Amino acid sequence: MKVKIKTKGLEPGKRLDLKKVDTWSLWDGNTLLEEKVPIPDAGLGLDHYKCIANDEDTVSVVRFADLHRHSDNSLRDGILKVPDMVKHTEYAGALTDHGNLYGFVEYYNAMKGAGKKPIIGMEAYQENLRGELSGNHLILLAKNDVGYKNLIKLSSESFEHFYRKPHVTWEMLKQYHEGIICTTACLGGLIPKSFANGDRESAYYAAKQLLKIFGEDFYIEIQRHGIKDEELVNPQLLGLAQELNIPIVATTDSHYLRKEDAYAHEVMMCLKQDLTIDMPHRRYEGTGYHLHSSEEMEKLFSDLPEALDNTLRIADKCDVTVKMGDVNLPNYEIPAPFATPLEYFKHICKTGFDKRFQGRPEHEDPVYLERYDYEMSVIEKMGFETYFLIVWDFINYARSVSVYIGPGRGSAAGSLLAFCMGITDMDPIRFNLLFERFLNPERVSWPD
Ligand SMILES: [Zn+2]
Ligand SMILES: [Zn+2]
Repeated sequence: MKVKIKTKGLEPGKRLDLKKVDTWSLWDGNTLLEEKVPIPDAGLGLDHYKCIANDEDTVSVVRFADLHRHSDNSLRDGILKVPDMVKHTEYAGALTDHGNLYGFVEYYNAMKGAGKKPIIGMEAYQENLRGELSGNHLILLAKNDVGYKNLIKLSSESFEHFYRKPHVTWEMLKQYHEGIICTTACLGGLIPKSFANGDRESAYYAAKQLLKIFGEDFYIEIQRHGIKDEELVNPQLLGLAQELNIPIVATTDSHYLRKEDAYAHEVMMCLKQDLTIDMPHRRYEGTGYHLHSSEEMEKLFSDLPEALDNTLRIADKCDVTVKMGDVNLPNYEIPAPFATPLEYFKHICKTGFDKRFQGRPEHEDPVYLERYDYEMSVIEKMGFETYFLIVWDFINYARSVSVYIGPGRGSAAGSLLAFCMGITDMDPIRFNLLFERFLNPERVSWPD
């Protein structure tokens, strides 16, 4: 359903204030169904809607924000390109790729650029109640900047609990839950799966655990893909939600853009399983893994309006600002007795210089000494000492475990200090290589 409304100064992205509405008309696609002046009451539930477009005094509204969507960063699973996802988002939407955040920068920037609200999320793989890495799905959405950082932590640490997929553990969820909204995911989620297996007790136990961790930011997800198990599971999910007083939320597990992309998706699923399309293969049961419009979702969930309203509530809750363009180097811990990274860096360089040149004419050669001081002053001025220490550290480590390291590639070979530190293995002065190609204060760009 689309509603067009004539109003006094409504703002896109804000909830509809019925008192401000002059006239409204109800449309089904392009057909005008009804027109009224002024708006009679909230009987239609119009106050639940969200304004999404504003051409002077006309506002279109939707009743759904899409919170569970896979792009082609859900490797060998989704085929939806991020730009297509953004283009077809009505007002707000989440990116929830399987077990990773690979697409979020592209997604965040594109959504912001399109004036839409990006929600950063992930469909994590979760360990089961016995602590086995059994690949249960769980949707995690960043609610605020703290949640965004925690989501990054969860994503990174999940790779330390890797069994076929990166997993989040219960411990990790307890540690990094702040600022994160959690929903129970598809039939692959721990709770739906437990219900499908007839293990009601585990479903309730898991729900109580997640409720304890996420509190009011925990939601029971309801999907309707026409899968047989959904008929069995959904009523139990609704019962659990009611019994434990957990809000429900409507989602659709989109993996491709249009309905007709189902075949292309099936071809890719065959590639994943090393099968051809003509061989018997496991098809995705059910339908509707395309990106749904608000209208489609309203029809699909007309009997559960609160599940739609909660999508907007969640979208309202989420507000993350990602600063782009900054370089965030890891914190490099320096050993005692050095007080600053610069002090330690100077020490490593000096020791390295002596090691390379002690007892040779270069050790006293003004060309070398001046070049040494010059590079040191540039690095100090540009604040790159931590960068050097980090590179030095991983190069050293690689050498210590017999990983091949070249003598230095690209412009880095032009640095005498990199040579002193053992990052590179050739003397730039001997080979007449320029330091400025590597670093120069006129153009601050990070070396690779
Ligand atoms: Zn899933
Ligand atoms: Zn999914």
